[in-house]
Amino acid sequence: MLPHAPLTETIAAYESELDQLPVLSALGLRHELVVEPLPYKLFDAYGVQVDLVRADQLHPVISGNKWYKLKYNLLEAQRQGCHELLSFGGVWSNHLHALACLAAALKMSAVGVVRGEEHDVATNPMLLEAARQGMTFEFVSRQRFRQLRDDPFAMASVGRYLIPEGGDNPLGVLGAASMVHCLRCDVSRYTHGAVAVGTGCTYAGLRLGLPSQVKLLGVSALKGAWMQRAIAEKMTQLNVPEASWLLSTQHHRGGFAAVDESLLSFISEFRDNTGVALEPVYTGKAMLALIDFIQQQIIPGGSRVLFIHSGGLQGLRGFKPPLKPNPDIPDE
Ligand SMILES: *Cc1c(COP(=O)(O)O)cnc(C)c1O
Repeated sequence: MLPHAPLTETIAAYESELDQLPVLSALGLRHELVVEPLPYKLFDAYGVQVDLVRADQLHPVISGNKWYKLKYNLLEAQRQGCHELLSFGGVWSNHLHALACLAAALKMSAVGVVRGEEHDVATNPMLLEAARQGMTFEFVSRQRFRQLRDDPFAMASVGRYLIPEGGDNPLGVLGAASMVHCLRCDVSRYTHGAVAVGTGCTYAGLRLGLPSQVKLLGVSALKGAWMQRAIAEKMTQLNVPEASWLLSTQHHRGGFAAVDESLLSFISEFRDNTGVALEPVYTGKAMLALIDFIQQQIIPGGSRVLFIHSGGLQGLRGFKPPLKPNPDIPDE
């Protein structure tokens, strides 16, 4: 049963239009998202059942949440007759990487506005692959990047469709909400959801898509108290009841893309025990936070948790070999 009738109808209308785009079948993007139990000793010990949404398995490049945030934006770009997509991100941005791949499939051109000094594209696998898909880059200073975040229209031009950093706009939120519709299970049987937070676009969409009795835990990958305010503002705008969401700003482990040995050893231990690969920027931190919530009994025994694996494994290469913090990744 789906919780929000009007939202459901809006999503259904977009989805049927999306079906007309050959991009979906050309890329092998499936409609359905697999949900599977995630057996792990610690969960058993606390009597909590955790199921995993395998958005990470959607596509090798357009993995996880990126497809959902972009898909209705792509439709809108086509509706507006645009031939070019422009968006913003860091050097290791999964979002720009996915955008490049989608633009190529749609035979559109793509521009990535990249934060930080000019990078040698050839030495960064994410940028290199995006370039091979035809994406061109504009490298801008951090200061300029921040200005553009506040005023992306400074980059406007005829035939160009602008997508904010991380795909965080109303169509991105709607697309993220549609993830719930791609689950072939009864979501109302869960007590909690859990997902990593960057811009909070995915989090906001999932919050809208899930029934309100499912309490959604977000885990910020970025450091800073501003995140709590930013998300609270988003939730107010979306009329989300306060009791239905909870954000942790305590599990960033030092900031965006900050990595430490115990996070890395957790990721490898988790993989050994469950067969599920996580990455250190988002999903590893989110899973550790979930464990913490369970241990603190913020998620009490008897709960059923839906953990959304938002993907991001393509960006793992930034940490290899060996898996170490990458100095190219800037702190927010
Ligand atoms: C981009 C990304 C996120 C953050 O998504 P937002 O919608 O910006 O909050 C979370 N997890 C992974 C794996 C990502 O690549």
